[in-house]
Amino acid sequence: MGDLAFERRHLWHPYGSMREPGPVHLVAQAEGVWLTLSDGTRMIDAMSSWWAAAHGHRHPRLVAAMRAQLERLPHVMFGGLTHDPAIALAQRLVAMLPKGLDRIFYSDSGSVAVEVALKMAVQAQLGLGHPGRVGFASARGGYYGDTWKAMSLCDPENGMHSHFGAALQVQHFVPRPPIAFGAEWSDDPARNGLGAVEALFAEKADRIAAFIVEPVVQGAGGMWFYHPRWLAGLRALCDRHGVLLILDEIATGFGRSGTLFAMDRAGVVPDILCIGKALTGGMMTFAATVASDRVAGAIAGGPAPVLMHGPTFMGNPLACAVACASLDLLAEGGWLAQVAGIEDGLRRGLAPARGLAGVRDVRVLGAIGVIEMGEALDTGRVHGFCRESGVWLRPFGRLLYCMPPFVTTPAEVARICAAMVEIAGWQA
Ligand SMILES: *Cc1c(COP(=O)(O)O)cnc(C)c1O
Repeated sequence: MGDLAFERRHLWHPYGSMREPGPVHLVAQAEGVWLTLSDGTRMIDAMSSWWAAAHGHRHPRLVAAMRAQLERLPHVMFGGLTHDPAIALAQRLVAMLPKGLDRIFYSDSGSVAVEVALKMAVQAQLGLGHPGRVGFASARGGYYGDTWKAMSLCDPENGMHSHFGAALQVQHFVPRPPIAFGAEWSDDPARNGLGAVEALFAEKADRIAAFIVEPVVQGAGGMWFYHPRWLAGLRALCDRHGVLLILDEIATGFGRSGTLFAMDRAGVVPDILCIGKALTGGMMTFAATVASDRVAGAIAGGPAPVLMHGPTFMGNPLACAVACASLDLLAEGGWLAQVAGIEDGLRRGLAPARGLAGVRDVRVLGAIGVIEMGEALDTGRVHGFCRESGVWLRPFGRLLYCMPPFVTTPAEVARICAAMVEIAGWQA
């Protein structure tokens, strides 16, 4: 048994305190959708371990791919050297991404992939002859990671701005896309949110390198699903004002929202794309930033024709090999029916929450289910209830949500929903 008193004293957890650490469950092993705690308690990982374990835990094909790579070449530096898994993964990504979006930079985590995207944008603008375009814009309600520049673009209110005082640069924000996914679109720029983008660009585009946004599904910044037409409108405005468009598909990529990429719903192709999380099926920390030919060309034609980034563990062979296996599983196509089935189950299972007094909204898209409460949830109580209900959930603020692995069965989806509806009922 792990020494939890020692762990409480010495280990930080995400967004955690050393003075009053939150409770933690000790996980001994995982298989499929199930986490097994050290005392034998089992819980369904309804979070897919933060969007990553799309095929469930310890999928035999992923384990085999990683094991085989481990025996050959676990790691080697990427500066001046390359290897088959890096090439094979790039081939798969190029085949699945829109044409012309195919210049790939590997990195170790989503936040770093976002940093690389922002650096690419500035270097490309330099190459295009716009040295004044060094700022960034985003919509409120976004989440792009925890590194400095990424953090500065997260929602300025529910994000981390207040924790860092003046140290955190202020960027340019427009309101979050106001029209919900599935609601009726309005062409009125004052109502559809595009007027605010246009006003920002009209005033400041000559100082903005890029606009970054999560396509259609805003994740950790508010779990908001917005109308794809907003994204199409944003693309047109970016083009008109010379602003590059960065799409962050780190959470939504690889089937999660019901299409292979969330941007597919809008038919929008970005100048720069960030992917991560489920890229390795949740087996390894890994991410990539993909630039268009035009962006890559602009950087290459710039004053410093090299892209100035190069992580120690760039292109790690274990991560590339397991990502290949994960993309092969996706390519077999089963995810489409699985995600549609989960979406169905979530719609049915979460519907009873709509009538509850404390509930403000219930929304489902693909394999993502959200109950938005009127007030913040008691996360300590939820934590304890997870063990009781056998469903692992990790709400934040007013948002109780799940994104179960694609292999979750209808009965397991029903169980997740029942646990969520019960928690939502506490605020009645
Ligand atoms: C998780 C996430 C990130 C950051 O990824 P890390 O691997 O945690 O650094 C960035 N953008 C989005 C949309 C995310 O969901």
